[in-house]
Amino acid sequence: MTATLSGRGLADGIRAEVAAEVAELTAAGTPPRLAVVVATADESSAWYVRSIARAAEKTGIACSAVDLGASATPEQIRAALEALSGDPAVHGIILQTPLPAGAVVEDLAGAIDPAKDVDGANPLSLGRLAAGLPAFAPATAEAVLALLDHHGVPLAGAHAVVVGRSTVVGKPAALLLLQRDATVTVCHSRTKDLAGVTRSADVLVAAVGRPELITAEHVAEDAVVIDVGTNPTADGGLVGDVDAGSVTGRVAGLTPVPGGVGPVTTALLLQHTARAARSRRP
Ligand code: NAP
Repeated sequence: MTATLSGRGLADGIRAEVAAEVAELTAAGTPPRLAVVVATADESSAWYVRSIARAAEKTGIACSAVDLGASATPEQIRAALEALSGDPAVHGIILQTPLPAGAVVEDLAGAIDPAKDVDGANPLSLGRLAAGLPAFAPATAEAVLALLDHHGVPLAGAHAVVVGRSTVVGKPAALLLLQRDATVTVCHSRTKDLAGVTRSADVLVAAVGRPELITAEHVAEDAVVIDVGTNPTADGGLVGDVDAGSVTGRVAGLTPVPGGVGPVTTALLLQHTARAARSRRP
């Protein structure tokens, strides 16, 4: 029997708390504002930005996209991030990916004020996270932990295997799992015998960007599987990095796609924005 580890209830709860906090902050004269810097014509990116804006609106957070166009230069992107970092009316800044050729997200995100870095993209934020200091964690990585906690999955001493080592998901998820006393293994495209490694996981986090890569042969019976993948399908839908049909019935729990990590990620971005506004309150 495989439990569906939905993120929707958790996301609704987080957004309700954020809405209450936003009302308080707005009444006190600090209405939280989130800015999303976009430099791509990518349609799935545009969809993601619209979904953040819709969720922000529901909580009372003002959200604006700063669209620099797909031909923006790294200098223009950096200048926009610096301007927003210096704007006292803006509390949260997200640098949307993909970026134009030649623009390196890890480099440009260094221009985001760490106090406004609500998606943990500034390398300083990741460094602080690694050092166990207060920082905004990348929201997707934090969503993985929030889902595991929400569904009561024990982490101390568990073997957690993260497939994927990106700066935005895999590495910070591994750091957060380590902070919670899991024994962590990180896999990537050069890992030998991926299925052999992932089968030893009590908790498996798939953050690969390869549709349905993880199948029954990759999972232990009774493992808990968090599917971070969001891969667009030809018919306009989404599939995860886990082949849900293949692992269902074998694992103890699996997050759905959509409706798992995604809504929690968005809710946490808004929670971070409200927190950033609170810390800036005069
Ligand atoms: P990414 O930057 O492309 O990183 C993918 C990682 O997977 C890399 O570390 C890569 O290894 C590894 N990999 C690729 N093929 C592999 C294979 N066959 N076996 C083992 N490892 C392999 O992707 P990302 O930004 O981390 O995103 C991962 C997925 O999460 C995507 O589907 C993305 O859409 C999704 N995502 C979802 C959310 C959400 O809120 N739900 C947010 C962000 C991302 P190398 O390092 O060796 O290349």
